[in-house]
Amino acid sequence: MPDPQPFQVAVVDDDPAIRRLVRLLLKRGGYQSVEFGTGEEARAQLTTLQWDLAILDRRLPDMDGVVLCQQLKADPALRNRYIIMLTGEDDQEDKIQGLDLGADDYITKPFQYPELMARIRAGKRIVDLQKELVESNRRLEQLSITDGLTRLHNHRYFQDELLRAFEESARYVRPLSLAIVDLDFFKKVNDTYGHATGDEVLKTISKIFQQSIRATDLAARYGGEEFALMLPETTLNDAMAFAEKIRELVEEMRIETQAGTISATVSVGVATVPHPRIHSPKELIVAADKALYRAKKNGRNQVQAERRTDPNRGRTAKTAIDN
Ligand code: GH3
Ligand code: MG
Ligand code: MG
Repeated sequence: MPDPQPFQVAVVDDDPAIRRLVRLLLKRGGYQSVEFGTGEEARAQLTTLQWDLAILDRRLPDMDGVVLCQQLKADPALRNRYIIMLTGEDDQEDKIQGLDLGADDYITKPFQYPELMARIRAGKRIVDLQKELVESNRRLEQLSITDGLTRLHNHRYFQDELLRAFEESARYVRPLSLAIVDLDFFKKVNDTYGHATGDEVLKTISKIFQQSIRATDLAARYGGEEFALMLPETTLNDAMAFAEKIRELVEEMRIETQAGTISATVSVGVATVPHPRIHSPKELIVAADKALYRAKKNGRNQVQAERRTDPNRGRTAKTAIDN
């Protein structure tokens, strides 16, 4: 895996001659470096600057290098950085204390240059491994929340995020809308063109969702050919307008597949909280699902909203409610 950032070494020593020497050695070794002459300066800069490995003099004019080492290692963001303590030749206690307080290695003054460079290389191997581990964890985490076919978020992530957004909406009494989108007569696409072509259609339509949402919205594959679009800070009216835009985009799209150009339509059910009878994420999903069912029943290729009328009052054919 290519390293996007060069390996950066921080040198903390009050002796300008040692700093200059180490700087030259590091440069020759192909490393970038930053230098600090006091503990305070190093402490202030090393919490904000990017660095991978620090060479820390034990005896600094304004503080004990071991204390600085301990403080840096206590910062969760810096825990994986590598610290080499520079100690006096016979300070056995210093070495033990330094290692116990978080130093990864030590080197005694006066040091041999090849040894310093070898210890830096050893440190770099460990830092590089840790970086790879962090990156592969990040990728695994991304994979675990992503739908493999469409690259949208998966069902589980959607459920987690819906719960989080629902609680936030309830706490601050802010609107939260949910649109459930289902492809119309999708079985026919599979039956006519084959499953692989059906997959291509799902992928292409997913791109419309991804491209249409805001950064704070979430598009997920809810099930086979069903998608969930979560729209925080969006009223029912705005969510309806958004769903209508999606419906039109899908209807107008000519989907290029290996089996030729295909067109598709979607039906959408929209529900929004706050709502007098919706008290959980599950009830929000049920409300959107019922609206979707109505869109299907009314002929498909359309958007329907949840209904808010009380079922026991003013019941007419037009205001009959479904939730
Ligand atoms: P409706 O308009 O009522 O939604 O009709 P429909 O045919 O879309 O509905 P139905 O639920 O009967 O069929 C859904 C189809 O979606 C059947 C299933 O094979 C297909 N499907 C589900 N997941 C996938 C998938 O990952 N890839 C492909 N190619 N097809 C899928
Ligand atoms: Mg369908
Ligand atoms: Mg379906």
